[in-house]
Amino acid sequence: MKYTEFEIISHFFKKNQKIDKNQIKGIGDDSALIKVPKNNILAISTDTLAEDTHFFKNINPQDLAYKAIAVNLSDLAAMGALPKWATLSITMPKANQKWLKLFSTSFFQTLNKYNINLIGGDTNRGHLSVTLSVYGLLQKNSTLLRSNAKKDDLIYVTGSLGESGAGLLLLQKKISVKNIKIRNFLIKKHLRPIPRVNEGTILNKIANAAIDISDGLISDLGHILKSSQCGANINLNKMPISKILKNNFTSKDYFNWALHSGEDYELCFTISKDQISKLNAAIKEKLIKCTCIGYITSVEKGFTLTKNKYEIVFQKKGFDHFSF
Ligand code: ADP
Ligand code: MG
Repeated sequence: MKYTEFEIISHFFKKNQKIDKNQIKGIGDDSALIKVPKNNILAISTDTLAEDTHFFKNINPQDLAYKAIAVNLSDLAAMGALPKWATLSITMPKANQKWLKLFSTSFFQTLNKYNINLIGGDTNRGHLSVTLSVYGLLQKNSTLLRSNAKKDDLIYVTGSLGESGAGLLLLQKKISVKNIKIRNFLIKKHLRPIPRVNEGTILNKIANAAIDISDGLISDLGHILKSSQCGANINLNKMPISKILKNNFTSKDYFNWALHSGEDYELCFTISKDQISKLNAAIKEKLIKCTCIGYITSVEKGFTLTKNKYEIVFQKKGFDHFSF
């Protein structure tokens, strides 16, 4: 049986939609209608995953659905927002029922895990591409901007860095590891990054600035520095690199992946020293796992990296030409 556009929407997407109290209209009219609760701000973020650019042709539909949601939630997490709703624009070459079933099952499993409702979208024919928009809520006084880092703030990152980069190189067959468990672990880090949603909602009350690491620490921290007109000193010896990377690759490789390869989807944030006790309390309660990797300096000091007490002056003049 061949599905029409409307049958696809109804069978694979509308059927699974849930309604919440702020939702006046979901899927099925010309637009969704959402009531933003008093004293809240609506945070909106959108990201596209396109075949050959963001994923390989043979990606399985479950991984694609998961990652479309994860990368978007990571952006909301970096603003400290709690995700509530999503819209899905999907373009595909044909209406393959088996593919759509696998995609939509994984899609709703992931949305449900984060209590997000699908409220609309668009369905088209063409090269495979998935654009997801997510909508989240923030208390009025708790935004987490890139532009609010302050001199002497400490710089932290959540989780560990570089594993997603290694996973991508494994998928591309540019590197190899013998141990199949390690190989699968690293590939999973690439295909199924965990968005730091809960961490974002903790940080929005205590951190000054944040960004999610989608393009590598150097590039993404660079955005904070540029927006906040600051410099930074990063201690490479403190970088959170997992034992798996340390035991299986050279330090040149894992530092390179941690600094430059993207898609870890960890949060990089800056926090003033007088808020550290609150952060430590959250760490102690296991609400957040993070590592201090450096501190914010004045803009004149530029972006410096230290390793074994040597200083690499990395960028002095602004942050447009990141190459080293
Ligand atoms: P219109 O032609 O008015 O833009 P559509 O025919 O594109 O409307 O969509 C009809 C309804 O189905 C709308 O509410 C739209 O938001 C929803 N919709 C379309 N595609 C999807 C999808 N892939 N997932 C969820 N909702 C969808
Ligand atoms: Mg439409």
